[in-house]
Amino acid sequence: MKYVKLPDGTKVPALGQGTWMMGSAHNRATEVAALKEGIALGMTLIDTAEMYGEGAAEICVGEAIKGTPRESLFLVSKAYPQNASRKTLPKVCEASLKRLGTDYLDLYLLHWRGSVPFAETIETMEALQSAGKIRRWGVSNLDTDDMEEWIAAGGQACTTDQILYNLTRRGPEFDLIPWLRKHHMPVMAYSPVEQGRLLKNPALIALAQALNVTPAQLGLAWVMRHPDIMAIPKAGHVAHVKENFASLDIVLDDTILAELDKLFPAPTRKQHLAIL
Ligand code: NDP
Repeated sequence: MKYVKLPDGTKVPALGQGTWMMGSAHNRATEVAALKEGIALGMTLIDTAEMYGEGAAEICVGEAIKGTPRESLFLVSKAYPQNASRKTLPKVCEASLKRLGTDYLDLYLLHWRGSVPFAETIETMEALQSAGKIRRWGVSNLDTDDMEEWIAAGGQACTTDQILYNLTRRGPEFDLIPWLRKHHMPVMAYSPVEQGRLLKNPALIALAQALNVTPAQLGLAWVMRHPDIMAIPKAGHVAHVKENFASLDIVLDDTILAELDKLFPAPTRKQHLAIL
C-alpha cells in the first residue's frame, strides 16, 4: 500500500473505498464481500455518508467491518449541510456511529456548503472531537474561495477537502489543489473513474492496452501520482476491487504522463469546482 500523510501526521492508505450507491437489499451481500476484500488488501480507508441510501450505505459498511480491529480502519463519514448545526450535528453523528457499529469516526466531513455558518459547524466539529466521537474533521466540495472563508471562520485544522477529481475533471489543478497544498491539506479525490464513464474513453482504453493495464488502473494511478492525493473509488464487485488494488503497482513515467496530458489537458484558467 501507498500512504498519504494527514496534517496530524497520521498515515492513511492512498487508495480507499467509496460507498455511494451501496446498501440496497438486492446488492448488499456482493458489496459487503467487495468491501471486505478491499479491507483484506489494505484499502482500509472507507468513505461513506449519512446521505448514501439515507443510511443504508453506512449499515453496509458496518456489516463489512464486523470482526476487523477498529484501529486498523480509517472510517470517513459526511453530514448533510442542513444537519451541520450546533443542535443537529451531534445527533446525526451519533446516528452514523450507530449504523456503522462503532464509537468514533476517524474523519467527519461537511458534505457540501449549506446555510449553517461555517463558524458554527467548525465549533461543533471541535466539540465532537473533544468528546471523542470523531478523531478529525474536514470538508467536501468547497472551492478555493469557500476554503478561504472556512479558514477565516476558524477552520485551520481542516484535514482534507474531498473533491471531484479525475482525468476528465482537472479543474482543481489550476488553483484549489495548489491552495490545499500550500495549507498542507491532502486531497481526497472522489469519483476517480468518473462513475465508470472514464473507462469507456476510447483513447484511454487504447493507451491502457498499450501499457498492458486496464483503463481503471491507469486512471487511478494517475489520480494517486502525487503523494498528497488519495483516491476513493467505489467498487461493488470483488473483481473490480482486485483490479483497482493493482493500480498501486503502476509507475507513470514522464512519457506516459505527457501522453495523458495530451488526451486530458490540464486547465489553463480557473474553473468552478464541479460537483456530482
Ligand atoms: P467512481 O468514479 O468511484 O466510480 C464507481 C463506478 O465505477 C461503479 O459503477 C463501479 O462499478 C465502477 N468501477 C469501479 N472500479 C471499476 C473497475 N476496475 N472496472 C470497471 N468498473 C469499475 O464513482 P463514485 O461517484 O462512486 O465515487 C467514489 C466515491 O467517492 C463514492 O462512492 C463516494 O464514497 C465518494 N463521493 C463523494 C462525493 C461527495 O460529494 N463528497 C460525491 C461522489 C462520490 P461496480 O460498483 O459495479 O464495481
